[in-house]
Amino acid sequence: MPRNFCRRRWSAASLLATLFICCNSTAAQTDRTSENVTVVIDAGHGGHDRGGIPGQRFSEKDMTLDVAQRLRNVLAASGYRVVMTRDSDVFVPLATRVAIANSYRNAIFVCVHFNATNRMGAGGIETYFYSRDSLPLASAIHHFVVGGAPSASRGVRRRGYYVLRKTNIPAVLVECGFLTNPTEAAYAGSASYRQKLAEEIAAGVRGRNIVGSASYVDQTKVAKSEHRRSKRSQKKGARKKKSSSKPAGSEARSGSIDRES
Ligand SMILES: [Zn+2]
Repeated sequence: MPRNFCRRRWSAASLLATLFICCNSTAAQTDRTSENVTVVIDAGHGGHDRGGIPGQRFSEKDMTLDVAQRLRNVLAASGYRVVMTRDSDVFVPLATRVAIANSYRNAIFVCVHFNATNRMGAGGIETYFYSRDSLPLASAIHHFVVGGAPSASRGVRRRGYYVLRKTNIPAVLVECGFLTNPTEAAYAGSASYRQKLAEEIAAGVRGRNIVGSASYVDQTKVAKSEHRRSKRSQKKGARKKKSSSKPAGSEARSGSIDRES
């Protein structure tokens, strides 16, 4: 369902700011929110880490990279400085992704993922954050992606994913739908839909100071048990204390399988 955010009822200040964006679509010169801001874009997975669950038709790593590259193009056209944690089908450890993000000041971090689960009917968009400073960005990205996608909203969620916990800049992880859901997989398989996703995420980046904070589901308790499971599958043996200080091998895989309960 297409969204027209110009019609939303907001405060006068918000409306003015929104109109500014709506009426000045000639990107770079007009997007004041881009001033000096670096957007670090993190395409989930890559290389040997395909993401998702075994046997799913679309490889998550390819979808995330495609959306991330489209997002880069949209944001760059709006005047943002953009950095990619990966720009090809390579594996980048989570700690490296975080280090890249943390090397920039006045930056924000956007992780792009797709979801997966063994329950084929599961679907919808989820947006994750961890630090309170990241909530406005998460809220805005979720607002726009859900508004522009036919998929349902599964809400804004707070959760301790490594890339969200360890980054010291506003950081968000958006799950752009379930590749294990036939309908959502079909959408994701369309280049025009992936472009739409990129544009909506970009709208969220631009609108991060306008939309306001959404209510959210706190899943920070779930994260610990999930890291535990993820680590067990990666490296049998290692432990409990380290779950809070070391990255799980695959953020997305741990998240997706267990996420919907
Ligand atoms: Zn993922």
